[in-house]
Amino acid sequence: MTRKILIAGNWKMNGLLEDGVNLAKEVAAEVKKLGRPQCEFLVCPPFTLLYSVKKALRGAKVALGAQDAHFAVKGAHTGDISPAMLKDLGCSYVILGHSERRADHNESNELVAKKAVAAYENGLKTIICIGETEKQRDEGKTIDVCSKQILGSVPANADASNTVIAYEPVWAIGTGKTPTAKDVEEVHAAVRAVLAKKLGKSVANKMRILYGGSVKPANAKEFLSLPDVDGALIGGASLKAQDFMAIAKSVC
Ligand code: PEP
Repeated sequence: MTRKILIAGNWKMNGLLEDGVNLAKEVAAEVKKLGRPQCEFLVCPPFTLLYSVKKALRGAKVALGAQDAHFAVKGAHTGDISPAMLKDLGCSYVILGHSERRADHNESNELVAKKAVAAYENGLKTIICIGETEKQRDEGKTIDVCSKQILGSVPANADASNTVIAYEPVWAIGTGKTPTAKDVEEVHAAVRAVLAKKLGKSVANKMRILYGGSVKPANAKEFLSLPDVDGALIGGASLKAQDFMAIAKSVC
């Protein structure tokens, strides 16, 4: 089963206009140098930069994504952004259920699933994030927590064309700490097994599962060469084009 590696940058709440445009231009130039890359590239800037980054990426094989979306198409939801608006701006992806949104905005599995359905209806692909806290890991609950998140957050009509899963241990995000390659392999295999139960074996075998959590140029190859790891969701290191591309070049 060939699953195209996805190298995705989550810029989080970083970047003013000039920084964002410069970063996007550097990434675009580096991806162009690769010619016909083996991988798919994606950057997910904050909402405020989407339009300018889209322009900066013109002609480059780098997709644009957002970091969240509401489940409604429009209406009385002050401060929110709808999937239709993101599609209109040129986004093809949206990250949903990132642990920072689950923690800061109390997002439940049910809400994430509702957002994913709305994203599909508006032609967006989703990256649905799951992952255990340090306490849950210490208690031996990693697989159980991730399984419940998959069962609750991934809609029944998810398939490999509209959904990517990102396994991101919460304790590894932005900390410099990472699980061992063996741990990552074990969780990804378990996640694929749960996806098979929920969506069928054929869909599960085609669906990409990314690893995220302190991915850096120095550890990228170790994670990205694991059999069930189909790419990376990169936070901090995606803010430097050289680091982002060094991670990509370890496999692309
Ligand atoms: C993330 O926020 O999705 C992430 C993986 O961050 P970092 O790479 O900084 O750990």
